[in-house]
Amino acid sequence: MQPTALISALRDICGPNGIITDLTALRPYQIDWRERYHGNAIALALPQNTEELIALVKLCQQQQIAIIPQGGNTSTCGGAVPLSNYYQPQLIINLKRMKRILNLDRVNNSLTVEAGCSLTQVQQAAQAAGLYFPLSLASEDSCQIGGNLATNAGGIHVLKYGMMRELTLGLEAILPDGSLLSCNTALRKNNTYLDLKQLLIGSEGTLGIISQATLRLFPPIYDYFTFSVAVNSLSQALCLLECLRANYSNNVAAFEILKAETIELMLAYHPDERLLLRAPWQLIVELEITTEFSLERFYRLLDELPLDLNQLIVATTPTERKAIWQIRELVPLVEKQHGYALKHDIALPLSALEEFLAVNMPKLLACVPHGYFSIFGHLGDGNLHYNFGIKGASRHSISQLEQQISPLVYADVVALGGSIAAEHGIGQTKVAALPTTLNSINYQLLRQIKNMLDPANLFNPGKIFPL
Ligand SMILES: Cc1cc2nc3c(=O)[nH]c(=O)nc-3n(C[C@H](O)[C@H](O)[C@H](O)COP(=O)(O)OP(=O)(O)OC[C@H]3O[C@@H](n4cnc5c(N)ncnc54)[C@H](O)[C@@H]3O)c2cc1C
Repeated sequence: MQPTALISALRDICGPNGIITDLTALRPYQIDWRERYHGNAIALALPQNTEELIALVKLCQQQQIAIIPQGGNTSTCGGAVPLSNYYQPQLIINLKRMKRILNLDRVNNSLTVEAGCSLTQVQQAAQAAGLYFPLSLASEDSCQIGGNLATNAGGIHVLKYGMMRELTLGLEAILPDGSLLSCNTALRKNNTYLDLKQLLIGSEGTLGIISQATLRLFPPIYDYFTFSVAVNSLSQALCLLECLRANYSNNVAAFEILKAETIELMLAYHPDERLLLRAPWQLIVELEITTEFSLERFYRLLDELPLDLNQLIVATTPTERKAIWQIRELVPLVEKQHGYALKHDIALPLSALEEFLAVNMPKLLACVPHGYFSIFGHLGDGNLHYNFGIKGASRHSISQLEQQISPLVYADVVALGGSIAAEHGIGQTKVAALPTTLNSINYQLLRQIKNMLDPANLFNPGKIFPL
């Protein structure tokens, strides 16, 4: 089909406002959040419902056009943008016009939505019904539920509630051949052989496009107790975590950490920020509390630990709580402002984290003595954003450095029983690293599943697997 005939066929499906070809309007959809990957698509499609999505996928199959499923385009590993100069035409399909709340079932504690709803919209829909949806990311105003599912998003509440996989009861998706995978049930028990929805969760747009989902809701939180405290080491931080879990059972909802170098980086851009502590590490911790919570008992517990209580900030109002969380949310934005760096989203058993840092940090500094670290993340889940940069590095130089440095990081992560992709996924950034860090049988099985569902490799080519 000639390009003009193709655009006209796409417009027949999505309507005149549903297909964007203007280069200036297309630009933000072709560049990733970190501005590392710049791709080219023939157009952006904005379908309004599942039927339009099916028609788009069938047309792309017929015309051999690659499909790039896109949500809020907040992927930090280049997962949601087209490739540059790919041999096949690429169509971005963004679900932002599919954002209807379909059903809120109070008895079942579940919420069915279209996949283009933003995470904030879902949190608010739950809250309006007196319920709670716990997924929380700094990108929540922009990211979409489809993107959260396709990346199996994590965020700050995994410690208590699990990742997106644990928060999902059902979903509907269009498979690469245009057929509809209907698993959008609201059931908590369903042992009818394999749970097919799990194929799409974490699939990063390579196995189909998610159109709807049913999410688990929870009772509202009575109140939060949020505090930030300095610690001298990871083991001191983990002692505090153990103590809190022993005393508040499953109500430790968030346990985040920032290393001194990250704090310094933040201070360089926000010198007046009073909530940043001058310490080797700063923790941000949140407990979900009930009426029985006793402040005296909390201070007694902390008194028994070797903590410097002059370096303790407690939020006493919702505004103070928000201010503490703002620090954590600012970190990725400050890092972006500071320039390109090598980002590693790693997970390790809690007991291996300190050893990993002791072994790996000197190796990176030996390669690049003037490099800087920015380390922060969801410590309670064993997930660190282990970032290493050189001030003023260009897009090109950071890509070159990545080939030297990232394998050193990943080798130590794997040797200590960890994962090279804790919550952000593989995208384009870790395509080369995946086969070297996964067991070869696991990797082959993943490839076979991809080949079976998408033999023409039309869905998100060049992501997860090399071309
Ligand atoms: C400031 C900031 C903070 C962040 N914090 C966190 C965090 O704490 N935890 C965390 O896990 N992530 C975090 N992220 C990463 C990102 O926000 C998440 O991965 C998020 O889930 C992506 O959602 P999205 O809608 O933006 O997806 P996109 O970026 O648009 O897409 C991500 C992947 O999903 C695929 N995809 C998107 N929509 C669909 C669909 N409907 N069907 C099939 N595939 C689809 C894309 O092809 C791509 O591979 C953060 C990002 C930023 C910028």
